[in-house]
Amino acid sequence: MSDKTANIGVVGLAVMGSNLARNLASREGNTVAVYNRSHDKTEHLVSTHPEAGFISTSTYEEFAASLSQPRTAIIMVKAGRGTDAVIEELVKVFEPGDIIVDGGNALFTDTIRREKAVRETGINFVGMGVSGGEEGALLGPSIMPGGSDESWVTLGPILKSIAAIAEGEPCVTHIGHDGAGHFVKMVHNGIEYADMQLIAEAYDLIRRGTNKSPAEIADVFAEWNGGELESYLIEITAEVLRQVDADTNKPLVDIILDQAGAKGTGAWTVQTALDLGVPVSGIAEATFARSLSSHAEQRAVSRDLPGPAQALTVDDADSFIEDVRLALFASKIVAYSQGFDEIRAGASAYGWNIDLGAVSKIWRGGCIIRAQFLNRIADAYRDAVELPVLLTAPYFVEALGRAQDAWRRIVSISAAAGLPAPAFSSSLAYYDGLRAERLPAALIQGQRDFFGAHTYKRIDKEGTFHTLWSGDR
Ligand code: NAP
Repeated sequence: MSDKTANIGVVGLAVMGSNLARNLASREGNTVAVYNRSHDKTEHLVSTHPEAGFISTSTYEEFAASLSQPRTAIIMVKAGRGTDAVIEELVKVFEPGDIIVDGGNALFTDTIRREKAVRETGINFVGMGVSGGEEGALLGPSIMPGGSDESWVTLGPILKSIAAIAEGEPCVTHIGHDGAGHFVKMVHNGIEYADMQLIAEAYDLIRRGTNKSPAEIADVFAEWNGGELESYLIEITAEVLRQVDADTNKPLVDIILDQAGAKGTGAWTVQTALDLGVPVSGIAEATFARSLSSHAEQRAVSRDLPGPAQALTVDDADSFIEDVRLALFASKIVAYSQGFDEIRAGASAYGWNIDLGAVSKIWRGGCIIRAQFLNRIADAYRDAVELPVLLTAPYFVEALGRAQDAWRRIVSISAAAGLPAPAFSSSLAYYDGLRAERLPAALIQGQRDFFGAHTYKRIDKEGTFHTLWSGDR
């Protein structure tokens, strides 16, 4: 080991940890100590990147000894048991006042548990969401740290130096205490699921309705990327659609198996929303759409179920494509509104003081859902900090007013043709549910009181009521 000292360390040198360590090392004033359970990965990183000036360590003791105080280490290992194993080792060699940061994709309740346990040793523990994949880790991710105010004093400047920059501002902010950072990262991923599903539905409808080739649809997405839909996901969609398979010379999208995978953060977002009682129907539909796609056996035996031929012919391709664009934009507004609603509810349930406008700003760069549209969300929360429903902000009201006729046409056309557009249609149902002056929930309350004496409230009197129904047994 060298006699240099490092101001920051990274534990876990798979793709994310290596790239984050290189990003840290590339910033003025940082010296980075690195450690990985299998030492060959450490040696490989250090030897392939001599310019980084890493301090290579092969034991946790060496790693701790190489760090200046307060010691600060970012863990980037496989989330779950791997994280617990590393924390257990670091706690043995760190001292009170030091900082352990978990940059993996931890479930926020695990982070709350870990923070509580580590705090008892006097060491600070920070759960930190990192978005942007391997490229983001290397060039500038969007970073969502939780943890104590004390840790933020040390960590803030380091994280600001490595984060993506959007409109001159680093894409990092102290989200809130204990699990707040991982909670917000989880919802970010949930919104990402919805965004991707909506784009996939838009592609499918355009392809079936206009008979355009994937490369031609890539041009449509590239054009959309110049307008209000401008975003990383729209941009990469054009590139994916343009890709030709080298073996068959066919569009690659036609060769890829139509079964989408998932690593679980979408499911966490939906499970947590159910616990909090927050309707995130667009995110849920997107998550379920991936599971439906991967049930190959069920899909195979269902192919002959009765229904329309799932074909679509439109007379005016250009106006149909514009309708799809508007339906996508409106549904996207719903997905983000639902996601921010979940963050608001999580903050209230867990006692976090989360600045929703600041969250939208740090998602403008570095992360997968980065989009021009996040500026409008930041504006909405700047103008009304306590906004109860994001889509009621003036910009979104105008956009939804402009988009909704097209949105309704697209949902009707796809339902009539038997084409699944679950995220488009569930977003519209949510929107109309919010708008409804009276919902059939009254009938549900009647049913609940009938069979379970669950009682109900009345519109004309205070109090709780139970009816002796004619069917009472
Ligand atoms: P990964 O494949 O999730 O994990 C591999 C790393 O974990 C290796 O360094 C491995 O060490 C270490 N590890 C596993 N179990 C361990 C244990 N019990 N003790 C010590 N080390 C252990 O790596 P990754 O893809 O780079 O992701 C790292 C973290 O970032 C994960 O939590 C992931 O969810 C999160 N993340 C990933 C992305 C992405 O795009 N990939 C984006 C954001 C966040 P060995 O080399 O010794 O096996």
